[in-house]
Parts: sequence; structure tokens; C-alpha cells
Amino acid sequence: MKKELICISCPQGCRLTAEYAADPAQAEVSGNRCPRGKTYAITELTDPRRVVTAVVPTTDSARPVLPVRTSEPFPKGKIAELLNELYKIKVTPPISLGEVIQKNALDTGIDIISAENRN
Ligand code: SF4
Repeated sequence: MKKELICISCPQGCRLTAEYAADPAQAEVSGNRCPRGKTYAITELTDPRRVVTAVVPTTDSARPVLPVRTSEPFPKGKIAELLNELYKIKVTPPISLGEVIQKNALDTGIDIISAENRN
């Protein structure tokens, strides 16, 4: 099997080709200018993840939403479920930049953190 990918690990955006017989974890990767490209391709084929950004409601009517993000890239297949969960949260300021809003989201071990200081 052959897959074309674009590495998003840095602004170079290398065009990658990943070829494998049965196991994508064993893919041969070409087109990458550095080792991170191979890691990206294998991860994208076996366990694609993205940093998720969103907003959650606050109890402050003057500033009714707070921007948040995942503490690290989140499994792509669970993002829709995560967003549904985030829309149910309501936070109360003060909240610091990087403060954990929800720990271990969807049992992934990944936290949801504030992307802003809110006093
Ligand atoms: S392969 Fe390396 S140089 Fe190319 S986009 Fe990925 S991180 Fe950047």
C-alpha cells in the first residue's frame, strides 16, 4: 500500500510517501528532510492525533467563553466526542494560562488546559 502525506511537524511541509505491505508501523517513508517526518508518517498511519482548540462557557457574562486546548495532540478519532464533552463544561474565573480545566479527557491521559489568563 502507498500513501501520500504532508508532514505538518514544521513549516517546511515535506511531501511524504509511505509504502508498506501489511503493517503501517513498518512503512518505508521517503520525501522527509529529517527523521521527524518518518515519525509523523508512521503516527499518522497508525494513531493520527491533533492538538484540539476550542472554547468552553464561563460563568462570567461579560466574557462568556474561555479558549482552551489539549495539553498534547489528541487521538483524531475521539475529537468529536471530546468537543461534545467540552461544550458541557462551565468554568468560573479566575483561571490561569495553562491551568487544567479537565484532567484525563475521555480517559486518554491528556488534559484540557486554559489557553488564556482570565481574572
Ligand atoms: S520531514 Fe522534517 S523538515 Fe520536513 S516538514 Fe517534517 S519536520 Fe519539517
